[in-house]
Amino acid sequence: MDAAEFRRRGKEMVDYVADYLEKIEERPVYPDLEPGYLRDLIPTEAPCEPESFEDLMQDVERVIMPGITHWHSPNFFAYFPAASSYPAMLADMLCGAIGCIGFSWAASPACTELETVMLDWLGKMLQLPECFIAGTHGHGGGVIQSTASEATLMSLLAARCKAVRRVQAVESERSESDVLSKLVAYTSDQAHSSVERAALIGAVMMRKVPTDEHFAVREEMLKKMVEEDKAAGLIPFYFCATLGTTPSCAFDHITKLGPLCNKENMWMHIDAAYAGSAFICPEFRPLLNGIEYADSFNFNPHKWLLINFDCSTMWVKKRTDIIGAFKMEPLYLKHENQESGLVTDYRHWQIPLGRRFRSLKMWFVFRLYGLKGLQAHIRKQVALAKEFESLVQADNRFEICAEVILGLVCFRLKGSNELNQNLLKRITKSREIHLVPCQLSGRFVLRFAICARTTESRHIQRAWRHITQLAFELLQEQPH
Ligand SMILES: *Cc1c(COP(=O)(O)O)cnc(C)c1O
Repeated sequence: MDAAEFRRRGKEMVDYVADYLEKIEERPVYPDLEPGYLRDLIPTEAPCEPESFEDLMQDVERVIMPGITHWHSPNFFAYFPAASSYPAMLADMLCGAIGCIGFSWAASPACTELETVMLDWLGKMLQLPECFIAGTHGHGGGVIQSTASEATLMSLLAARCKAVRRVQAVESERSESDVLSKLVAYTSDQAHSSVERAALIGAVMMRKVPTDEHFAVREEMLKKMVEEDKAAGLIPFYFCATLGTTPSCAFDHITKLGPLCNKENMWMHIDAAYAGSAFICPEFRPLLNGIEYADSFNFNPHKWLLINFDCSTMWVKKRTDIIGAFKMEPLYLKHENQESGLVTDYRHWQIPLGRRFRSLKMWFVFRLYGLKGLQAHIRKQVALAKEFESLVQADNRFEICAEVILGLVCFRLKGSNELNQNLLKRITKSREIHLVPCQLSGRFVLRFAICARTTESRHIQRAWRHITQLAFELLQEQPH
């Protein structure tokens, strides 16, 4: 493909994408296929001779589209949203064209510098405390990680390194392996599985803190566990708080937990993967109060801030905590500006070496939506969740299972777990809407998350009519 053909095909592709998204509602939101479906639809070997673009695009419809779960359908209410907007897609095209691998400042200065400034812009939109803003002389700052899972792992590894150094500074005879074997991390029993995985990968113990009736961690519970563990000779070093848990969007009490962590020399990381985007609205910003006690904070603009995957933004109070833990300087990555103090080499902030120019997506979205446009998006989706909540509340066969604070509604039919499992099976099978369940206090619960950017009130109303119709049929069949 040469530039001339690229111009033509590129325009065709833009049309294909716009058509796909404009008409996405006509497609069943969830595929109707058996595992292994794809292998039979394409050859067993890559082609020897080049093929035509037309043939390829025909196969996109024949092979790929039937196997897509349409995350951007307004009838998709599963998991949490995956952000998507036209400005972000255009920025990603440009990112592909520039195609730099921005591991160091010298590897493409704009890639690094725009990222630092975009993280400052976003940090200010969230009203993060000054200590998290890089500015020109700050000690903190932000970085784009691929996912919240990676941000959590980075924070845990940095905390681990800091804890070993702290203990050895006082007890110089203690070996690193002895200290490591005594370290203990904490998180909520509602935390995302990636937090537990970070501890597995980081090879440290992790204890789950039981949550209260609102599925939130309270200071008393963490304090009790920390006291017990210290008495047993262990070294508490890390707590991962969640703001907006995955099952029910619950918020840990960080205004109380933060001072406890600070007093105990425990690194506090905040995982706000989903909820973080909402903090750009002043009315939701109080949910982030207590951030001033955190060592690191992360959320996913690629969930709810209209920036397509991947874009997970992480801030640290002290850059040296994270850089100091992982710095390696082979000669081929050195460059003459790196000692100037003004230079950030993001490779020290992350696990891989290579990184894409992801801040372009942020810049495009922030400029083309403006803070007001982004706030309007969040507010609209919260209002739609409230609308769905009222529909559930008005039907006495159903119950709401957790307070609706943002764009997630947890609900169920009053009755057994089995009844609700059957309801979900029917919903999934009908393919008109798509939901996933969660478990709350041993109960099987349906999660209804407002996901697509194009979801409107009519989709909520129709989804509810569909759910109640299936529930009606199910209840009719129940033995009385
Ligand atoms: C979605 C989610 C994650 C995982 O996000 P990734 O970016 O896919 O790793 C982590 N924590 C919470 C609270 C989430 O909702």
